[in-house]
Amino acid sequence: MDCLFCNIVKGEIPSAKVYEDELVYAFKDIAPQAPVHVLLVPKKHITSAQTLTPADDALLCHLFAVARHIAEETGVADTGYRLITNIGPDGGQSVPHLHLHLIGGKALKWEN
Ligand code: AMP
Repeated sequence: MDCLFCNIVKGEIPSAKVYEDELVYAFKDIAPQAPVHVLLVPKKHITSAQTLTPADDALLCHLFAVARHIAEETGVADTGYRLITNIGPDGGQSVPHLHLHLIGGKALKWEN
């Protein structure tokens, strides 16, 4: 399967790495929507939050722990930030590999 984020995780497509461990890779969004816009992806290919299984519980918990760490490192933990995961066409998901958008650095509006 040819997956953009799998290829980024493998280093076959360049990215601006923010964080990496054995389970998670995080990098700057190429089209940032705010001063801080980081994408966090599990290295394992999971299509979306809709295809998570109980076997992924620990991974998901870890993904949120990494998000908290990145929020601290990028200076938005205290001012606040948003974690978003888009699911499917109506959810606005353009890359079918589960990811969290970590967005902050300004007061965010709620739009759809
Ligand atoms: P979504 O629309 O929720 O699936 O989010 C996909 C995100 O990936 C978008 O915000 C894009 O700007 C971002 N994106 C697409 N290609 C790249 C890339 N090569 N490097 C970094 N971010 C990317």
